[in-house]
Amino acid sequence: MVFVTFDAGAAVAETATAAHAGPSAHLPQQSALDNELEKQSGEIKRGMSSLCRHGPKGMCDYCRPIEPYSAEYREEHGIKHESFYAHLRKINAATNKPELAHSFIPPLSEERYTVLPHCSSGHKPWPRGICSKCQPSAITLSLQEFRMVDHVEFADARMVNEFIEYWRKSGRQRLGYMYGRFEAYTAVPLGVKAVVEAIYEPPQVTDEDGLQMQENYLGSELDLQVDQVAKACGLEKVGVIFTDLLDIRAAGSQAAANGGSVVCKRHIKSFFLSSLEAQFAGLHQHRFPMYTKWSETGRFGSRFVTCVVSGNTDNEIDIAAYQVSNAGVGMVAADLIEPSVDPNFMLVKQEEETRYVPEIFYSKINEYGRQVKENAKPAFPMEYLLVTLTHGFPDRANPMFRASVPFPTEHRADMGVSQDMNALSRTLHLRENDTAHGAATDRSLYDVSDFHLLAYVSSLGILPSDDMQLLARVASSHDVSAAQDLVARPAWQTLLEIVRQST
Ligand code: ZN
Ligand code: ZN
Repeated sequence: MVFVTFDAGAAVAETATAAHAGPSAHLPQQSALDNELEKQSGEIKRGMSSLCRHGPKGMCDYCRPIEPYSAEYREEHGIKHESFYAHLRKINAATNKPELAHSFIPPLSEERYTVLPHCSSGHKPWPRGICSKCQPSAITLSLQEFRMVDHVEFADARMVNEFIEYWRKSGRQRLGYMYGRFEAYTAVPLGVKAVVEAIYEPPQVTDEDGLQMQENYLGSELDLQVDQVAKACGLEKVGVIFTDLLDIRAAGSQAAANGGSVVCKRHIKSFFLSSLEAQFAGLHQHRFPMYTKWSETGRFGSRFVTCVVSGNTDNEIDIAAYQVSNAGVGMVAADLIEPSVDPNFMLVKQEEETRYVPEIFYSKINEYGRQVKENAKPAFPMEYLLVTLTHGFPDRANPMFRASVPFPTEHRADMGVSQDMNALSRTLHLRENDTAHGAATDRSLYDVSDFHLLAYVSSLGILPSDDMQLLARVASSHDVSAAQDLVARPAWQTLLEIVRQST
C-alpha cells in the first residue's frame, strides 16, 4: 500500500467554481492530435471471408467494414475498453443524426455531482434551498465502456530501470511524474497512447511500505520550473508512476515458489489499485482535464494515467496502467467519496452542511444472473471506478533522451546520490573532452540529452531562459545547427567554465 498526500481541499474548491462555468472562450483549444483523430472514420476494413458468396469486387455483411466501436471486434482482439474516439463516434451518431437538420449538439457532458450555484428557480441558495433543477441527479455506477487513453508506451527500458533502481538500492518505495506526449495508437481503432520520455522524481519521504509526497507539490515553483523544461522539449505531464515492491526473500517462504524476485501483492484475489490510490489518481485526472469541442463545457475526462510498478503473478517486476472512470473523478471532485482501510472498497461520505450527497447505486449481476442496482452507501467495490490500460515498449526504441552517461536522478540524497558540478562534468564529458567543446560534435550533441540534467541546469539559474530553451531543443531534437548555436552562446560557455572551475 502506498500512502500519498495531496491537497484535496484545493482541488475540490477549484471544482466548485470551475465545474459550472459552462462553455468558455478562455478554455484551451483541443490538441492537434484531437483535430487529427476526429477526422478519421476509424472504419475497420475486413477481407473476404469463407462465408462470402460473391466475387472479389462484391461486398456483403461478412466483409463490409465495421464501425470502430464494434463490440465483436473488441472481443476478438482482447480490447477491454473502446477508445475515446470510437465511443464519441457512437454517441455522436445517436445525438447528431445526419438526416436531422438541427444544429450541432455537443454529444458529451462532464459528470456534475454538486449542487448548481445561482439556481434561477428563485429559492434560497443551497443549503437553505434546493430544487430539481439545481440538485445533482442520482448516480448509477457501472464499468466504464470506454477509456480516454488506451496504452502507455515507455520510450526505453533504461528510464524505467533507473526509476526502479531507487527501490533496488534502498528497499523503499518511489514516486515519479511521467513526462511525454499523446499520440495516435493504431493497435486499437482510433486509439490514443501516452508515450513516456522521462520520469521526474519530486521531493518525497519514502518508506519500505509507502511514501509521502511533499504537500502542494503540484503548482509549486519547482513543479512549474520542471514543466517549463518539459515544454521546451515538447513534452507535458502525462501521468504518475509509483512502486509497490517487496523482495521475495524478505517475504518468507510462502511466496518463493515461482523463482521470481518480488512478491505478487496485487492480483484478482487482493486488489489492483487501492481506494487510496484511486482517489490520488482521481485528483490528478481532475487537475489535468482534456479539452474537447465535443463536450458542452469544452472539457471531458482526462488523459492523465497512473502506473504501478509491482510484482506480477510470475513474481517478476511489472507495470500496470490505470485510469479512474470519469464518474469516479466526478465523485472525487465533488468530495463525495473517501478511501477505506480495505483497498477494494471506496466509502461514500456523509452528507453535511456543505456537501450534498445524491443517491448512489452500482449495477451488478446478481446470483440469479439478473442485473440489479445496489445502494453504494456506505461503501462500494473499487472495480466500478477502475479503467485498465495496456502498456509496453516500442519495437524499436527511439528515445528522446540519449546521454551515454546518465545524469543522476533528482531528490535522491537519502541514498547518497547528488546532482552537482562533478556529475555535470561527467555527463558532459568535460574532462576528457576539453578541446572538443569549441565545435558541436555528434557526441557532445547527445551529452546534454538527459531530462534530469536539463531540470538541474534550469534550477541553477545560470542560463537565461532563451539559452535554456535552446539547450532543451538540442537535448530533445539532437539538431546539429541548434547545437552549434548553443556552443556559440556566451551563457553556455560561462556555464561550462563554472563547471570546469568547480570540479
Ligand atoms: Zn463478403
Ligand atoms: Zn434550484
